[in-house]
Amino acid sequence: MDDIFYELLNYIESRPVINTHSHHKEDSFFKEFNLDTLLENSYVDWCGVPLEKTPQGRTNYLNKVKFNSYFVWLQKSLQALHNSDEPLSADNWDTFSSKIENAHKDENYHMNILRQKCRYSKILLDAYWQPGNDNGHPDTFSPVFRINMFLFGYSPYVKDHNGNNPLSIYNNNKVIQDIDEYISFMKEIIMRKKQEGCVALKSALAYDRDLNFTETTKQKAQRALSCNLDTRTNEDIKAFQDYVFFKICEIAAELDLPFQCHTGMGQLKGTNAMLMHEVIEKNPDTKFILFHCSYPWLDDVNGLLHLHRNVYPDLCWLPIISTSAAQRMLYELIEVGTSDKVCWGCDTWTSEESYGALLAVMYVLADVLGSKVKAGYFSLNDARIVADNILYNNAANLYKLSPLCRQ
Ligand SMILES: [Zn+2]
Repeated sequence: MDDIFYELLNYIESRPVINTHSHHKEDSFFKEFNLDTLLENSYVDWCGVPLEKTPQGRTNYLNKVKFNSYFVWLQKSLQALHNSDEPLSADNWDTFSSKIENAHKDENYHMNILRQKCRYSKILLDAYWQPGNDNGHPDTFSPVFRINMFLFGYSPYVKDHNGNNPLSIYNNNKVIQDIDEYISFMKEIIMRKKQEGCVALKSALAYDRDLNFTETTKQKAQRALSCNLDTRTNEDIKAFQDYVFFKICEIAAELDLPFQCHTGMGQLKGTNAMLMHEVIEKNPDTKFILFHCSYPWLDDVNGLLHLHRNVYPDLCWLPIISTSAAQRMLYELIEVGTSDKVCWGCDTWTSEESYGALLAVMYVLADVLGSKVKAGYFSLNDARIVADNILYNNAANLYKLSPLCRQ
């Protein structure tokens, strides 16, 4: 690494950050929290490698996960937080684990990492276990409201992948049989959530269904509400869900709430961002934030960004899914879009992993912006502006949070 890389990294490390996406756990979760709990509640667990508590089991586990980028950044975070250069091993496992456990004996430790070490001045919280919640820390967390459940309100007996149904949460399980009435019911809840402090809507529907939302008629959407379990077809359900999704986009525009949409990954099949082309095109006043840059279909986001003014790519999760994919994407995003578009979020459940995700995006920014300076694409000062835009200014403008104080 050269001087420009370190110069940029030092600069970025001194700047405040707005983290646009987090699932940070509530305070009570961090009582009795150790290395095993951390790993089990991290993306490393998504690698599907069983974590056994014997020395041999730990060695086997580490041998399999140690080059995966989820693990690499989490390990860097632990080394930085606990002042150690040593990589994790079966030999030092218990030492690391008791350091983590002891640190969390201070009940403020997990929030202090976010506020001080990560320098987050605001974190947008997607508490899917209680949509719209701020974990009791409104100074740090601004809630977003997850809308998945509204696509399942055609019956009180179906739930979204988080186990939520709007009729059971907000209507005492009472069925609504008229589509207009259903849309007003939904709109009222969204308006209430905005009043309660939600700064955006969030769709994680890529975990429930495909993203091919097509415009449909009210009559077709009504069928899913009129039918019963035996006569309701998959087509009726799709029409209902597509209609509701389009209505959510309209409501988002009317209430000026940016709409964060998970693209790529999820159920994988049918989740690439290009499938949202129609809904993005037909709702030009809705701000669509495309999460995870549709990984692994990064090109979809660049195409949509080039064509539509209402598209906002968000790098959240990407630098820890694949650091080099995030680097590749950032080169193109700078060139294809305008400087007010790209944001970043950690997308993690714990402070340790959040800090790892921040280390990853800082590395990506210093590396990519540094090489664009060297290539003569822009100046070192421009590179600093781009970094501030991605880590702070763009989110402050998009979600109407406080602007950055220039030092
Ligand atoms: Zn997420």
